[in-house]
Amino acid sequence: MTAELKRAARPLDCPCGGAAPNLKSGAKAPRFADCCGRFIDGGALPATAFELMRSRYTAYVLGEADYLRATWAAETCPADLDADPDAPGAPRWLGLAIKRHEAIDATHALVEFVARYKSGGRAYRLHELSRFTRGDDGRWRYVDGDILEG
Ligand SMILES: [Zn+2]
Repeated sequence: MTAELKRAARPLDCPCGGAAPNLKSGAKAPRFADCCGRFIDGGALPATAFELMRSRYTAYVLGEADYLRATWAAETCPADLDADPDAPGAPRWLGLAIKRHEAIDATHALVEFVARYKSGGRAYRLHELSRFTRGDDGRWRYVDGDILEG
């Protein structure tokens, strides 16, 4: 089986909904190809940590574990990373909101987000403040995050 056959079908509208700080509610989702698809499939590099954050959310929706690994800092990336959306008990992602993007300096940034998902018939909210760093290669990577209440 080739990698091409294994790949999840690409949606027309981007699963991230174009999430951005100050995005108006009810805003129309951008096309996948114009949004996270540029990074996941096209090899373009996100210019900001929040663009990387939403492309990682979309990668979870699509089960793109290779992309998640490639955009995770080597020190914190779990060895047993599994993002198969068809696995039993896997979360079904419902939407992303980006609450805040704070550029600390040229190579460090914070992104606060809420991701909604369902698992085992129950709905959850993942509210996290994530840390990102930018390497010498110009690529932003996820480091880790703190779970926030509410
Ligand atoms: Zn997107």
